[in-house]
Amino acid sequence: MRAEIIATGSELLTGRTVDTNSLFLADGLLDLGIETAFKSVVGDDEKDMEEVFRRALDRAEVIVITGGLGPTEDDITRKVLARMLKKRLVLNEKALKAIKDVFAARNREYPASNDRQALIPSGGRVLANPVGIAPGFFLIEEGRFIAVLPGVPQEMRTMFSESLRHELAAHCRSEVFIHRKVLHTWGIAESKVNEQLEDILKKGKPVMGLTARETGVDISILAKEGSRDRALTLADRTETEVRKRLGDAVYGMDSQAMEEVVGALLRHRKLTLSAAESCTGGLISSRITNTPGSSDYFERAVVTYSNASKTELLGVPAELIAAHGAVSREVAAAMATGIRERAKTSLGIAITGIAGPGGGTAEKPVGLVYLALATAEGVSVEERRFLGDRDQIRQRTAQAALDMVRRHLIA
Ligand code: ATP
Ligand code: MG
Repeated sequence: MRAEIIATGSELLTGRTVDTNSLFLADGLLDLGIETAFKSVVGDDEKDMEEVFRRALDRAEVIVITGGLGPTEDDITRKVLARMLKKRLVLNEKALKAIKDVFAARNREYPASNDRQALIPSGGRVLANPVGIAPGFFLIEEGRFIAVLPGVPQEMRTMFSESLRHELAAHCRSEVFIHRKVLHTWGIAESKVNEQLEDILKKGKPVMGLTARETGVDISILAKEGSRDRALTLADRTETEVRKRLGDAVYGMDSQAMEEVVGALLRHRKLTLSAAESCTGGLISSRITNTPGSSDYFERAVVTYSNASKTELLGVPAELIAAHGAVSREVAAAMATGIRERAKTSLGIAITGIAGPGGGTAEKPVGLVYLALATAEGVSVEERRFLGDRDQIRQRTAQAALDMVRRHLIA
């Protein structure tokens, strides 16, 4: 069963508001075994909307529309849809009562113009809105399932999860079962991943995809089978094969972020960590403390941006900085040792680098970063050259630093 998601709202066409509703909906539909074949975005214009709706009715069996259900003149979704389907708009008493109840509960006067939010194309069924005013609705027309939800993301999400989802599941009785996984890798180029997985990627079953992100290359696995068990088995088998081929480069799965993986390893090994950051300006600490309970293993971090602070807070000798420069193997090592000793932690991670856009030289270009990890056994330093703008370099550096800790912990 193929779906089309239609986001309506002129604000989505001005380059300022991102259509996030369709991401949520595509994900939710896929969980029901319904694949999204098309997404459209259209402004609050009757003719344009009509054209988009018509095209969707021609090419999709499930159509989910968001936005334009408000009480104002520019909220035209219900009107356009009803006209196209040759349906009258009928005042739904149940919906009207629900709307009036919201006003009463908030002790606000009820404006009569609000009645229009309770208008539903005849034959449609109301989808209650427990977190807002405008109800949604759905109808089944010549085998097509057409649903309309409000544009406000919070309301749309709640209504999808609490009601639309169940209506769709009952209507579609999906004959396909989908199981999805995403494996996260770091430290391996997309082309290399492609090379190592070429035959699996080409097979088409499961459907595989590679996405390059600041956090590494993600490998998505989408198994589509006639039964839940078969989908699960295919996804599991593929995961095992990918892990076998890529080894340690795979650091996590699905919602697992690198900091979570590192945190779990530190906790398991009963080890502690501290950090000294220069060009990442606290990003690494921010990442680590994303994970609840990180105080169990994360002791402290300092942002030593200036040379003086590296000397004052980490004990990096001023002569060392003068001799090698703040962005150097030697200074990175001294920073890691310095923070580890001062924080009395099992591990100390340190970063120094040039995030750009200025400050680069032929010898030390923008993107040059030194990562150092101090342990009871000594200190190791890695030199990396990251590409990208300032933000990308900083993100990649933070990810690389966390990965350095991870690799030490699994070695
Ligand atoms: P409703 O149907 O709930 O009345 P509406 O379209 O009339 O929705 P708007 O005022 O246009 O309401 O939008 C409400 C808020 O929801 C705005 O902040 C808008 O940017 C946001 N919004 C609408 N559609 C989307 C979308 N597809 N993705 C993300 N945000 C959206
Ligand atoms: Mg709108």
